[in-house]
Amino acid sequence: MTQSSFPAVRSVESFIISIPRETPYLGPLAPGERINERGYLIRHGNRSIYPNSDMSVLVKVTADDGTVGWGETYGIVAPNAVTSIIDDVLGPVIVGRDPRDVVVIQEDLYDLMRVRGFFGGYYVDSIAGVDIALWDLFGKLLGQPVVKLLGGQRSAALPVYVSGLPRATLEQRVQLAREFQALGFDAFKYAAAVSQEGIVNEMRALREGLGPDVKLMVDLHWKFTAQEAIQLIDQLAPFRPYFVEAPCQPEDIEGQAHVGAATKVPLALGEEWRTVFEVRPRMERRAMSIIQPEMGHTGISQFMQIARMANAFHVKVIPHASIGIGIFQAASLHAAAALPNCPMHEYQHSVFDRNLQFVTTSMRCEAGVFHLPQGPGLGIEPHPSVWQYLRKKEA
Ligand code: MG
Repeated sequence: MTQSSFPAVRSVESFIISIPRETPYLGPLAPGERINERGYLIRHGNRSIYPNSDMSVLVKVTADDGTVGWGETYGIVAPNAVTSIIDDVLGPVIVGRDPRDVVVIQEDLYDLMRVRGFFGGYYVDSIAGVDIALWDLFGKLLGQPVVKLLGGQRSAALPVYVSGLPRATLEQRVQLAREFQALGFDAFKYAAAVSQEGIVNEMRALREGLGPDVKLMVDLHWKFTAQEAIQLIDQLAPFRPYFVEAPCQPEDIEGQAHVGAATKVPLALGEEWRTVFEVRPRMERRAMSIIQPEMGHTGISQFMQIARMANAFHVKVIPHASIGIGIFQAASLHAAAALPNCPMHEYQHSVFDRNLQFVTTSMRCEAGVFHLPQGPGLGIEPHPSVWQYLRKKEA
């Protein structure tokens, strides 16, 4: 096929999906927490807002020859902000572009709003969704899995850690972890935002309940000042955490670096960062030993740049996994499988397992391991059943 005849982008569409949940993300509501009229709840433990549904934004890029690429990005709160940016700004700009130029296109889209200060947040989330769809399209047009286009494939499967123990009491959370342990999982992370019986108590209970060999982690949910975090991590250290996540507020670069320098426990940071430009100052200050890029924020092009930069700093990559139907999860597995410095991937079981019915894919998480999807592109498509949860866009 000559260069001039390679299919170009014909159209870009975005969709909001909202799949109801029985139990909210992170677990049952605590006393005083409630779901508001827009379907959101605020976790008092970390003062952050979450949807009461699995809400996501899908991106469909169609080529001249009818081939379709699928992407997904963050839509968990105010998804119309994301779809407006895609529909009004990004989509029309890339119609006619060659999907083989996916990294160049990502850079071009980033430049469009750079001088106005839009180099993060919803704008970059929107680019991420388009970027993932273009990589899927590129792979499908070549008949190759995306991982093969990212420099090469190191593995067909990745170890996981079980993320979140969404039960009401500590006893129930330990029991849930034991059930996963019996299925072959050996790494567990709990969430400080819903650790009602105490963060140290919870790690002690998990260590006693699961034995000496499992990996234990805690997400501190940006709750502490640097000094508070150092004191807390000292109390956690006897239970040998594999990492402690997000001790200080996201803007507090010096605080993160201070904690990193003061503790022997590895720190994991970075689910909220979107580009190498946000990551670089933290890397330079040695604020972490593990970075947790979130594919729904970064897209594949930035994810790979962040991960390669992390490798240059001898920092491990353990990707974040958030609320979605599975498309950016698949993209994250493709990217992670190309890396030399990725020992495991987050497994957001309460989202992933339930939503697997809404995608067509061979991707699985079983016995402590994520299996990459097979097939060209990302190896995942929305299942027709997901469209019953299509949410109307608001002007
Ligand atoms: Mg986290």
